[in-house]
Amino acid sequence: MLVGKNDAVLSMQQSMQKVIIVGGGTAGWMSAAFLAKVFAGQLAITVIESPDIPTIGVGEATIPPIQLFNQLLGVDEKSFMSACHATFKLGIQFEGWGNRSEQYMHAFGPCGEQMGMLPFYHYWLKARQHGSEASFNQFSLNYHAASQAHFSHEPLGNHQQRLIYAYHFDAGAYARLLKDKAITMGVTYLSDHIAQVSLDTQSGEIAALHSREHGKLTADLYLDCSGQRALLIGEALKVPYESWQHWLPCDRALAVQLAEQSALPYTRAIAQTAGWQWKIPLQHRVGAGLVYSSAHQNDDAALKTLLANNQTPAVSEPKLIRFTPGRRTNSWVKNCIALGLSGGFLEPLESTSLHMVQSALIRLATLLSNTKPSKNQIEQYNRLTQIEAEDVRDFIIAHYHVTANSHSAFWQDCQTMHIPHTLQERLELFRVSAYLPRHTQALFDDNAWSQVLLGQGLIPTAQNLQTDKVPNEKLQLWLTQLQQKNNHLATTLPQHEAYIKNYCQA
Ligand SMILES: Cc1cc2nc3c(=O)[nH]c(=O)nc-3n(C[C@H](O)[C@H](O)[C@H](O)COP(=O)(O)OP(=O)(O)OC[C@H]3O[C@@H](n4cnc5c(N)ncnc54)[C@H](O)[C@@H]3O)c2cc1C
Repeated sequence: MLVGKNDAVLSMQQSMQKVIIVGGGTAGWMSAAFLAKVFAGQLAITVIESPDIPTIGVGEATIPPIQLFNQLLGVDEKSFMSACHATFKLGIQFEGWGNRSEQYMHAFGPCGEQMGMLPFYHYWLKARQHGSEASFNQFSLNYHAASQAHFSHEPLGNHQQRLIYAYHFDAGAYARLLKDKAITMGVTYLSDHIAQVSLDTQSGEIAALHSREHGKLTADLYLDCSGQRALLIGEALKVPYESWQHWLPCDRALAVQLAEQSALPYTRAIAQTAGWQWKIPLQHRVGAGLVYSSAHQNDDAALKTLLANNQTPAVSEPKLIRFTPGRRTNSWVKNCIALGLSGGFLEPLESTSLHMVQSALIRLATLLSNTKPSKNQIEQYNRLTQIEAEDVRDFIIAHYHVTANSHSAFWQDCQTMHIPHTLQERLELFRVSAYLPRHTQALFDDNAWSQVLLGQGLIPTAQNLQTDKVPNEKLQLWLTQLQQKNNHLATTLPQHEAYIKNYCQA
């Protein structure tokens, strides 16, 4: 079919030209910098940030794909790390989760080596059944480097293995860095408060934003990065929020900063009476916080718990944050997309929130065409967003539910609570067959799931049939060599603290 002149004009008129981002928190500036880079010269982007409403001011731990995000924006690692007081993160150490007296690490990077079709954990299970006592973590290079507080970018050993890493950083400094970058790339910044949002009476789309200083503002697409308030998606468009609190009982956090010096290249997640405590080492301080269930612990008791578990006194006022775990039933509705806290929140146990902003932006950029977004495109975006969020949700719930920890009412409730059927099926499948399914859109693969489920103490009752082919002696020898190799390689690396000093001291 030939495309006539009028069609071309229509397409031009309908395609996206102006984007307004409401909110200057991490989500707002990640969005602005990303869109300005990817659609340079194609989109006019404005960020509007209220001078009266502060950003949430937390969010210091990340996961490895953030490297890709920074590279895409042309952010130089050394200067970024120096500006954001950043350290390297090799994983998360869970202390007292599966069993009160034990710890394990969800280390980034592979645990062991795949043999044939099967992920490594199948062979570890087989060896364990034959008496091996080596913990699953022993087969991870990241784990060995993390426990020795070592780090390097260099490829290691005959197979040129590399440590897989993310960062701990000062979230405020990161947002400022992205803001500078975005403004340099042509993003317009308005410090102004949106007092009202008007909707088109026929389509129900956002027709305009009304600001105190700059009056009426219009765009083709509005990104709601207004935080928990969800000014556009919630207040104006009335998209419902689906609470997951019945599966994730923690609904409050207390955050402080400590003058502590720590050279650990990993996040600590320490199980407490009614939740857990994070410890995030930056170059100049340690970020600490308690995530807890208000039904099981009041704020005063929570504050005592938080302040009792540190080597040094807090150097900032404790900040109390209330939240409801869950998500908007749809994050893209009409001409508005919710990103960041306006779209939902899952507690920071696996440091996923900033990543979910990143993956939503990549999803959007790969889906946008040069015509007005169709119903199908919007539905596809929402479907993929939902799959990702539910997969992360299940992963986080598993940390609470699969536990032998029953020392308080909170943990007993977590052990016995109902869980989503998707998680129920996955746990059952793993328990009886050692199989871990994975959706292509899912963030966490079998390497992550196996570390957490085995670390929490869930040992399947059967092994994959293929493992029967490998003679036990051969298997034990292979595992011993693998363990020794990882340990040795990690020993040869420099101390993380010294590495940071040389590479990117703030
Ligand atoms: C306790 C806790 C710990 C966390 N830890 C991590 C972590 O370790 N890793 C991680 O990845 N994530 C973490 N997160 C999540 C992370 O902090 C957020 O996802 C991230 O900061 C994005 O926030 P935001 O930009 O959506 O909202 P905010 O930071 O709240 O920003 C909202 C913005 O909207 C603006 N605004 C609001 N109303 C208006 C208005 N009317 N007009 C104009 N502007 C307006 C405000 O001025 C502000 O600039 C954590 C969250 C919590 C609660």
